[in-house]
Amino acid sequence: MQYVDKVLRDLKKKNPGEAEFHQAATEILNGLRPVIEKHPEFEKAALLERFVEPERVVMFRVPWVDDKGKVHVNKGYRVQFNSAIGPYKGGLRFHPSVNLSIIKFLGLEQILKNSLTGLPIGGGKGGSDFDPKGKSDNEIMRFCQSFMTELCRHIGQDTDVPAGDIGVGGREVGYLFGQYKRIRNEHVGVLTGRGLAYGGSLVRTEATGYGLVYMVEEALKCRGDSLKGKTVVVSGSGNVAIYATEKAQQLGAKVVALYDSNGYIYDKNGIQLDVVKQIKEVERARIKEYAQRVAGAEYHEGCKGIWGIPCDIALPCATQNEIDGKDAELLVKNGVKYVGEGANMPTTLEGISVFQKAGVVFLPAKAANAGGVATSALEMAQSSGRMFWTFEEVDKKLKGIMVNIYHNMDDAAKEYGVEGDYVAGANIAGFKKVAAAMMAQGVV
Ligand code: NDP
Repeated sequence: MQYVDKVLRDLKKKNPGEAEFHQAATEILNGLRPVIEKHPEFEKAALLERFVEPERVVMFRVPWVDDKGKVHVNKGYRVQFNSAIGPYKGGLRFHPSVNLSIIKFLGLEQILKNSLTGLPIGGGKGGSDFDPKGKSDNEIMRFCQSFMTELCRHIGQDTDVPAGDIGVGGREVGYLFGQYKRIRNEHVGVLTGRGLAYGGSLVRTEATGYGLVYMVEEALKCRGDSLKGKTVVVSGSGNVAIYATEKAQQLGAKVVALYDSNGYIYDKNGIQLDVVKQIKEVERARIKEYAQRVAGAEYHEGCKGIWGIPCDIALPCATQNEIDGKDAELLVKNGVKYVGEGANMPTTLEGISVFQKAGVVFLPAKAANAGGVATSALEMAQSSGRMFWTFEEVDKKLKGIMVNIYHNMDDAAKEYGVEGDYVAGANIAGFKKVAAAMMAQGVV
């Protein structure tokens, strides 16, 4: 269709070199073709052109001093992408690979993900090319304070509410929140993922991983199956990977592999999660340690080999583009039936196509990992209502949201004649609400 093609062409021309942003926009706009066809008024309103252009991009300098007194400078970003249905909401990523393209791809995805949750939150994302690895607590604190000293001018509980992402967990959110409160003199829900002692919500830590598995469980249930006895491979060993593993194990699956950026572990007897938590959450050490502590477990240098392990279900939970076309072919050859994306855009466009052609049930990130941001929105609700819900209450709401998202994207795919194509279904279901809000609000 000419309109979609033109928007994609212009986007690539106006944003040269932003490969991840091009990739995400291509996946999203291709999925939206059936909707655009039905709504010729969108072209006149330049709706897609506005949809792919962030409302605001903030880029700033983050100077900080290390323990030896040396000064460092990192880049800071906040992309406030779309506020049609609510205040900007999306995580902060601290990783050396962070650049504008990555933050924009994450921000664009976030708009539709947040819409899919059914909660009133717009899309944004931010971060820095700062590398937290090997830094002392004091260095992390000084960096976070410097980052927030600038960011605090641009966010607010009704404007933009950041959260964690890669490299930003409870410790970093604590330092960021402390600095925000100090400068602005207000104790409000301006960040989510806060500690329970200062306004956080139960289940937020577990939410993305648990939510992912709740969605996989629903997909299995709709096909008369369950997680019981299934072999699962999970990539990553951070927040999302750990809690996806925990929930999958609770529901009777056997998780046999995990990785970090150095290499992967394979434990044919099933991963012992208490050992992983001790290594990754307490000691902040490398996953390789696992094989030294658990008899029978293997460690392999490099990540790629993980996709050669036979499994029923693959849950990529580390980072973008972990599974390419070749990895997908290998997984299919070894019998994978379900892929649930815990990370953002972990599968390349070629990889997605391989899975879909092979009839694998492919649950895309913007739906499958929406449990984190959904629970963040529940944290916001508790903050503004000065309420505190129990673990069971939040967990029940999270599960309800994930089941709902699954059926919304399934229904949208059916409605638009692409049954079983959840990439299209998720894009369509998320976009419809954002488009309606944008059309109602005029040319802004
Ligand atoms: P963490 O920082 O807790 O963990 C990231 C994990 O991925 C680590 O094990 C890390 O290994 C690994 N990793 C990172 N980069 C690479 C790489 N290039 N190659 C191999 N492994 C890598 O992050 P999260 O678990 O929070 O986030 C993981 C993914 O989930 C991201 O895509 C994020 O955007 C997405 N997500 C997270 C949400 C959340 O609530 N936290 C919500 C929705 C999506 P190492 O330690 O060696 O770097």
